Order: sequence, then structure tokens, then C-alpha cells
Amino acid sequence: MGIYAMTGGATGIGAAIKQRLREEGNQVIVVDIKDADIIADLSSRAGREAAVTAVRAAAADGLDGLITCAGLGSNVPNCPLITQVNYFGTVEIIAGLKDSLAAKRGAIVLISSNSAPMNRSPEFVDLLLSGNEAEALRFSETIAAQEVYSGTKQAVARWMRRHVADYAAVGIRMNAVAPGYTQTPMTEQVEKDPTYGAAIREFMASIPVGFPGKPEDQAAATSFLLRPESRFICGSVLYVDGGHDAVFRPDQV
Ligand code: NAD
Repeated sequence: MGIYAMTGGATGIGAAIKQRLREEGNQVIVVDIKDADIIADLSSRAGREAAVTAVRAAAADGLDGLITCAGLGSNVPNCPLITQVNYFGTVEIIAGLKDSLAAKRGAIVLISSNSAPMNRSPEFVDLLLSGNEAEALRFSETIAAQEVYSGTKQAVARWMRRHVADYAAVGIRMNAVAPGYTQTPMTEQVEKDPTYGAAIREFMASIPVGFPGKPEDQAAATSFLLRPESRFICGSVLYVDGGHDAVFRPDQV
């Protein structure tokens, strides 16, 4: 079976992806700040470079796939840190492992969010896409955490679409999964929050299918996008959100 690398496999959605891929018989190399095969802090360039070097050493013949799942929610009271992990910790890992993925004509799944289209700070998203990390970090401190979070998630999806042709030219397929509300340690904290808890429960009740997602729902979609049966799906953003995006943006496809 295949050999996959992933970021953020310690808890939540990432842990479910790791478990599913391993149950399917694959080897999965997990990069995370804790409980991982490769411990690395993706908030710093040094951490990202160390992670890339270690994954390359562990998968010398190349990678069949890469999943970038490490991320911080808007509940984290440090907007530069959210920016560093969610955006730069995604695109720099992908770029650093491009050759390894090309060696085996691998597939990439980026974990975005269904909050991405709701971002209201195009200036922040443009800064991210320009690659100016120092300026993006500075700007992130001037806007609300939710705009930082949704901005990083929109930027990873747009980075993916901008680079699809380059990666496909060397045999790599890229797609993104955009989860909606999924119960994980990240959301658990917000559900318990005395200020935001009631609003979150109301939000959960508005999910069209009538229930919040489980990490396994995101893992099923990710596994599908990695497998050869999805070979003609490339550059797509798959909303795995119980219908919420359709309700938020009924006339945009
Ligand atoms: P989680 O907190 O359970 O998992 C996040 C993972 O990222 C953890 O394993 C954590 O250790 C790792 N991580 C955090 N900072 C890191 C760093 N500096 N370096 C390396 N690893 C680091 O959260 P989750 O809900 O499972 O979220 C997983 C992904 O899904 C995130 O990218 C998140 O933005 C996205 N997402 C989640 C939801 C949801 O409702 N849960 C919705 C949309 C998108």
C-alpha cells in the first residue's frame, strides 16, 4: 500500500485521517507538535524545514500522498500564530515535499474550512498569497481572529488552485476538503465557552442534515480524494459540512 505524510495527526480530524489511512493498510508519517512520528513546530520556518527534512529521510523513495491538517482555530488568542501554522505551515510543507510527491505521482489534500468563502478581509488574503510572512503577521494583529482564521483557510484553498497546473504537470493531484462544524478538541473548547457556547449550539442546530460532523466524516472524504478512483478530481474544494455552505451561499457554485 502507500506511504503518506500528514501534518496535524495527533488529535481531532487529523487523528481520524491517520487511523483511516492506517486501517486501509498504508504507512502514515505524522508531523505534529505533539504525539507524532516527527515532532515539529510548524509555526516557524525552522520547524517547517526540519519537518520536510525528516519526512524526506523517512520516505526516501517518495510519497504517495500528503495531507496538511495542522491548524489553529479562532479561539486561539494569538493571530500571528494562527497565520503561521494555518497558512505558512501548509504551503511551505507542500512546496518542500513537491519532489517527493512527484517521485510517486502522489496526491495532496489540504484541509481548508467552509468558513473560507465568508472571509471579509481580502487585503489579508492577498498578503498571504504574496508570501510576505512578516507583513501578513503584522496585519493579522489588526483584524478579528475569525477573519484571520477564515483568511488563512481561504488562502490555502486559493494557493492550491493557483498551483494546480504546476503540480499536475509533474503528476501530483491537489484538492482541498472544507470541513464544516466537526466535533473535535478544537470545537469542544468553544462549545464550553461561557460567552460563545450558546451561539455555537444554535449554529450547530442550523446544520441542514441535523447533526454536526465527526472527524471520521472528514477522514472518509480525504481518503477518497487520495485514492486512484478520484484521479480526474483535481483542484476541487469539497465541502464536507452537512449542507451549511449551500445554505450560506445558495447562488454561488
Ligand atoms: P485539533 O486541534 O484537534 O487538531 C489540530 C492539530 O494541529 C493538532 O494535532 C495539533 O497538535 C496540531 N498543531 C497545532 N499547532 C501546531 C504546530 N504549531 N505545529 C504542528 N502541529 C500543530 O483541531 P481539528 O478540529 O481536528 O482541526 C484540524 C483541521 O481542520 C484544522 O486545520 C482546522 O482548521 C480544520 N477545520 C476544523 C473544523 C472543525 O469544525 N473542527 C472546521 C473547519 C476546518
